[in-house]
Amino acid sequence: MTQDVVRVPGAPASLAALMAGNARFVAGAMQHPRQDPARREALLGGQHPAAAILGCADSRIAPELIFDCGLGDLFVVRLAGNIPDDLARASLEYAVEHLGTPLLVVLGHSQCGAITAAASAADGSGSGEDPCAERTCAERLAEVLRPAVEEARGGDAPGLQGAGLVDCAARCHARRSAAALRSSMACAASGTPRAAVVAAYYDQASGRVELLDP
Ligand SMILES: [Zn+2]
Repeated sequence: MTQDVVRVPGAPASLAALMAGNARFVAGAMQHPRQDPARREALLGGQHPAAAILGCADSRIAPELIFDCGLGDLFVVRLAGNIPDDLARASLEYAVEHLGTPLLVVLGHSQCGAITAAASAADGSGSGEDPCAERTCAERLAEVLRPAVEEARGGDAPGLQGAGLVDCAARCHARRSAAALRSSMACAASGTPRAAVVAAYYDQASGRVELLDP
């Protein structure tokens, strides 16, 4: 458990609950908790999600399912490549400032299409580039993800290619995104974190979520 998590009241319990839910998901022993009419009614009075998730838009990476959570448990921001852009940050800030969410999880995943596109663009095997053409949205996405791809290429296992490179880059990108969010979640006056920020990686084959070192 990182220093951040230990320092923020409520964060250790939130993280433990997420990981317990994921263990149920991996084992096929989901409880589907807090998804009934009573819960729906209870939430009319307000929400206090235990964690905020920045995840990928990929249809296979649904946080409420892989953490076996219910209504009102998670504040989820999803977009392709789980990129912490300004609007994503604004949403996450809202969860921390106004809903009191103590934990932010940046969730990368295996076989990420956005990272795959970025890796292809970086090695020139993507769609042909015309320097005069206006960049497509996909090209802009690839540009944002390129530093993580380059970090993966130059990391502990240089020469990585294909699926190995993509999954390594997804880990790098989750770590980098968490670091960027961590600095914006620190209290300006004291430097203490207002919310703990952790990076995690979801393996589609096993269903398991792995916490990544900062
Ligand atoms: Zn993805």
